[in-house]
Amino acid sequence: MSDPTDNATDDQLFAEEQLARRVEQERLARETASGATHCVDCGEEIPVKRRELLPYATRCVDCQGFADLMDRRRR
Ligand SMILES: [Zn+2]
Repeated sequence: MSDPTDNATDDQLFAEEQLARRVEQERLARETASGATHCVDCGEEIPVKRRELLPYATRCVDCQGFADLMDRRRR
């Protein structure tokens, strides 16, 4: 029952589905695990420019500066 044409189409659909899933996962990873759209400390929105420069930033400039200061003091 397996027509080579059908198989090719299935493979193509499968590949497209896999790709779409990977793109979605990468998008989610960028939005969640690898950073935040809002500062974790004060809740202010982190400017897009800052997020582009620092994709892993989870704080706004002010809070990051403060966190860095605290971090330095602990050492
Ligand atoms: Zn902040």
